[in-house]
Amino acid sequence: MLRVGAHVSISGSKASHDDETPPYGNIANAVWREERVGGNCGQIFTHSPQVWQDPNVDDEEAEQFREATAETLDGGPWVIHSSYLVNLCTPKDDLREKSIDAMQKEVDAAAKLDIPYVNVHLGAHTGAGVERGLDNAASALDELDIPEGVTVLVESDAGSGTKLGGDFEHLAEVLARSEQDLDVCVDTAHAFAAGYDLSTPEGVDDAVAEFDDVVGLEHLQCIHLNDSKHECDTNKDEHAHIGEGYIGEAGMERIVNHPDLADLPFVLETPHEDGKGFAWNVEKVHELRDS
Ligand SMILES: [Zn+2]
Ligand SMILES: [Zn+2]
Repeated sequence: MLRVGAHVSISGSKASHDDETPPYGNIANAVWREERVGGNCGQIFTHSPQVWQDPNVDDEEAEQFREATAETLDGGPWVIHSSYLVNLCTPKDDLREKSIDAMQKEVDAAAKLDIPYVNVHLGAHTGAGVERGLDNAASALDELDIPEGVTVLVESDAGSGTKLGGDFEHLAEVLARSEQDLDVCVDTAHAFAAGYDLSTPEGVDDAVAEFDDVVGLEHLQCIHLNDSKHECDTNKDEHAHIGEGYIGEAGMERIVNHPDLADLPFVLETPHEDGKGFAWNVEKVHELRDS
């Protein structure tokens, strides 16, 4: 079964791309939004990703979310994307402590919501160097008490500035240096920006083979499926509609049909300010899929 969905809002008020009032006063609205765009898996922020804030999911809304998911989504899974402020690589003690604390709350919220994955960017080493950055990330993740049934996914990055995770080697190193059972989410726009040319079927095959070599496909649990507004190897992270960016239709078609990727959940983080929206992109993925 093709599993494809979008990163949707949990907001109880009208989101810009919604013209109807959501039915719940809470996080369960994500399930309603996912259904409306035709998705059967998806991703959420538990709070605004630009500020330090706790998820604060109470028992009742957690139950509503779980019930709505069971009734509505035949695919799954959900993924929680952690805050953009989290920086696991940082050499600064206060930022490190805040990041660990925020991640602990996200994995606890995931357990409460029956969400199997919490996705995180490694962050930036800000001058400490790649090796220390990778060590910092691994040891920060080791501080977490990850509940059973929840796995932290380290997301591939576009690799701008001192951010780590652009090279598959960085992901492999963090997995190797950490004592936790970590897995990986590859974002196609990020990988492309970081230098993996996914714009041709051969390029996709090469990147998948390289990932298997370096990290191991058994660690790949999720694909963030995004096209890119910038060319390969520019380290610029800006997502485009599926097939309309520099990865393009040929690359996207191979990604969603590649035998090693086809069974993974594809989570869209495509633009939705320009009227095209997630429904269009979900439909596009179905069109590109062979069966
Ligand atoms: Zn991300
Ligand atoms: Zn992503």
